[in-house]
Amino acid sequence: MSTKKSAQLLKKAARVIPGGVNSPVRAFKAVGGAPLFISKAKGSRIYDADGNEYIDYIGSWGPMIVGHAHPKVTSAIKKAADRGTSYGAPTGLEITLAEETLKAFPSMEMVRFVSSGTEAAMSAIRLARAYTKRDNIIKFDGCYHGHADSLLVKAGSGAATFGVPDSPGVPADLAKHTFNAVYNDLDSVRAIFEETGGNIACVIVEGAPGNMGVVLPEPGFLGGLSTLCKQYGALLIMDEVMSGFRLCYGGAQKVYNVAPDVTCLGKVIGGGLPVGAFGARRGIMEMLSPSGPVYQAGTLSGNPIAMTAGIETLKLLQGKGLYERLLKTTATLCDGIREIGERRGVACAVNVAGSMFTVFFTDGKVANYDDAKTSDRARFSKWFGRMLKAGVYLPPSQFEAVFVGLAHSKDDIGHTLEAADKAMKGL
Ligand SMILES: *Cc1c(COP(=O)(O)O)cnc(C)c1O
Repeated sequence: MSTKKSAQLLKKAARVIPGGVNSPVRAFKAVGGAPLFISKAKGSRIYDADGNEYIDYIGSWGPMIVGHAHPKVTSAIKKAADRGTSYGAPTGLEITLAEETLKAFPSMEMVRFVSSGTEAAMSAIRLARAYTKRDNIIKFDGCYHGHADSLLVKAGSGAATFGVPDSPGVPADLAKHTFNAVYNDLDSVRAIFEETGGNIACVIVEGAPGNMGVVLPEPGFLGGLSTLCKQYGALLIMDEVMSGFRLCYGGAQKVYNVAPDVTCLGKVIGGGLPVGAFGARRGIMEMLSPSGPVYQAGTLSGNPIAMTAGIETLKLLQGKGLYERLLKTTATLCDGIREIGERRGVACAVNVAGSMFTVFFTDGKVANYDDAKTSDRARFSKWFGRMLKAGVYLPPSQFEAVFVGLAHSKDDIGHTLEAADKAMKGL
């Protein structure tokens, strides 16, 4: 398998783009390799510049849940493009996607569209600070909410992968308003509320974290957060940018039956185009400009092509029995990997949340970021490299989620498990 062209492209890219990539997780730095440059993708498959074919389990880091280049989505995008690509004025498409979003997430009465998950989380925090007239926020070690200054404190995803969770360039004056708690540990949250005399605007939490690898909320954890927030007059922001349409149609808040005050969405909601969203009950959302004083804006927000891709993707996802099938496919894959690990004597914890999962190479359970960090990252790199060679494209970091989609066939799963069996041998 030659990857000569990818290597050449990386060299060229690195001259004009820092690290040769436009988002750090795309680099294969954590696994000691060079990223593949992609030329096309279709269904469950992705193809690199050298023409190698892989079964894709990154799915653009979540959005491609119905598979790459789904004919319904691409044909709608083409038609939309013919009507013009951006107007900087409202369209009916925004109403359609907004109504669909509110139907899926009854905790929201209004929603605003932005162009990324980062923007959604950043704006949600601003709104919570304005609503409560407080500055401090609580987030969890290993949770990632995009790269806004307040949220880059002990963050997950690329920040965890590269060991720079506290980025230079974030003013200390701002970082001091971010308090970090331990995921699945309500006492650690309660302690911060008490320490700060309840001066907390919001608790922001991933619905089901995928950015320290997949970690599941333990029974009572999300509900406990909601109770604590109510008790202290803080808002609970559930960041469902990743989990929103990945656990079920309606996200972690539906699965765990917890209604947050504010919800952030992204990834799947844009069907592979740049869309983010945040929403809440009317009284909170009407504080936003131009209804209220809290400023938030975007030249390309609600872009007609992006809205179209989102609308078509959500339409497809409502097909009968699809999530059942998706979760079953994911379970088959995860059960298979667990069985292989046991048989091959490779200690691993496989955490699954809906259609996302992570194989942590550690022997204990993984319920928070400290647990995740006990994983053997050298072993992960080897696993990643072997899988890639066998044509299975996994996220290049121990601290990321693997994304299963509706395009993954029985054959894909079979081939992946065969590859996993060989990859775990002598790992
Ligand atoms: C991906 C992600 C974000 C950031 O979204 P971008 O579109 O990359 O800015 C925020 N929160 C969570 C939970 C995410 O998974």
